[in-house]
Amino acid sequence: MSNDTNNIIDCLIIGAGPAGLGASLYAGRSGLNIRIIEKLSPGGQAIVTDWIDNYLGFKDGISGFELIENMKAHALRFAPSVENGEVIAIRKEEGIFSVELSDRTFIATRTIIIATGARPRKLNVPGEEELTGKGVSYCATCDGPFFRDQTIAVVGGGDSACQEALFLTNFAKKIYLIHRRDELRAVKTLQDKVLNNEKIEMIWNATVEEIKGDAEVTGCILKDTKTGELRELKVGGVFIFIGIIPNTEFIRRLIKTDDLGFIITDDWMETSLEGLFAAGDCRAKNLRQVITAVSDGAIAAYGAKHRLI
Ligand code: NAP
Repeated sequence: MSNDTNNIIDCLIIGAGPAGLGASLYAGRSGLNIRIIEKLSPGGQAIVTDWIDNYLGFKDGISGFELIENMKAHALRFAPSVENGEVIAIRKEEGIFSVELSDRTFIATRTIIIATGARPRKLNVPGEEELTGKGVSYCATCDGPFFRDQTIAVVGGGDSACQEALFLTNFAKKIYLIHRRDELRAVKTLQDKVLNNEKIEMIWNATVEEIKGDAEVTGCILKDTKTGELRELKVGGVFIFIGIIPNTEFIRRLIKTDDLGFIITDDWMETSLEGLFAAGDCRAKNLRQVITAVSDGAIAAYGAKHRLI
C-alpha cells in the first residue's frame, strides 16, 4: 500500500446503482474527495426494471432506465465519473483502507461505502444453467420481447415475480405463475393485479424440479408440494424471480453479515469495521426499494463525512 498521503482519497464508493449514486451525490456535494467504482454499468437491478411506480416524486411512475439516467446526471453534477473496475479485496492498516482491484491496482482511501447490491437467486435444478439464455431468464425487461405470443412460466411469489409477470403480459399470450405456497408474498396491490389478470394463471403449491429442453426450453417438471405428484408443463420460457443474493463475497470475512451474507450496519450505515459503510440491497434490512437504497446512500455518505472530521 502506498504511504503517499497525496494519493489517499476520502471515500471510495463501490457500486453505482441507486445506493451508490445516492452516496455519490451526498459525498460529492459535501466536498469529499471521492472515487466511484462499478463492475458492470451504472444502474444495478433498477435499470432492468421496466416500470418503477413507487419512487416518490414521479406520480405517474417512471421507467427504471430513465430514473437511473436522471440519477446519474444528478450525481455527476457533484461527483466524478464512474470508473469501471472490480474490487476483489479490502485491507485496513493504520486507519487507511487498501482496496485491491481485479487488474491488480490499488486504491488507498480513508472511508469506503459498499453499495454492490444483489443478484438473482437461482433454482439450482437440472436444465437451469444449460438453458440460461435459451429460454431461462432472470430479466423480463431484457428477454420479454423474445416471448411474443408464447406460453411461459414465471417462478416465485414475491414483488419481483408479480411485477415481472405483469410486465411479461405485454408479450406472452399466457403466463403460469408458479409458487411454492398457496399465498403470494408480494404487496397487496401487485397481488390484486396478478390475480385479476386474464393472461396469468396461478399454479399454487408447486416447485420446479427440472427445466426441459435441448436447443431451447420446451417445458418444466413441476412437483405438487402437497401430494408429491410430478407433471410436465409445456412452456417456451421460464423466468425465475425467487429472491436475491447479496454481492458481498469479497468483504464477508472482514465485517459482520447475517446468515445470508447481507451486511449488518448501525444507524449511520457503518459496518462492524470503523470507516467502512454499506448501503442499499447488500445491507441487512427490512425494505429493499429504490427509495430506501438512495436513502441508505445519503446516510452512509453523511456517516463517512462525519468519520473524516
Ligand atoms: P422475495 O421477496 O425474497 O421473494 C422471493 C419469492 O420466491 C418468495 O415468494 C419465495 O417463496 C420464493 N422462493 C424463494 N426460494 C424459492 C425456491 N427455491 N423455489 C421456489 N420459490 C422460492 O424476493 P423478490 O421478489 O426478488 O424481492 C426482493 C426484494 O426486492 C424484496 O424486498 C422486494 O420487496 C423488493 N422488490 C420490490 C419491488 C417493488 O416495490 N415494486 C419490486 C421488486 C422487488 P416464499 O414466499 O414461500 O418464501
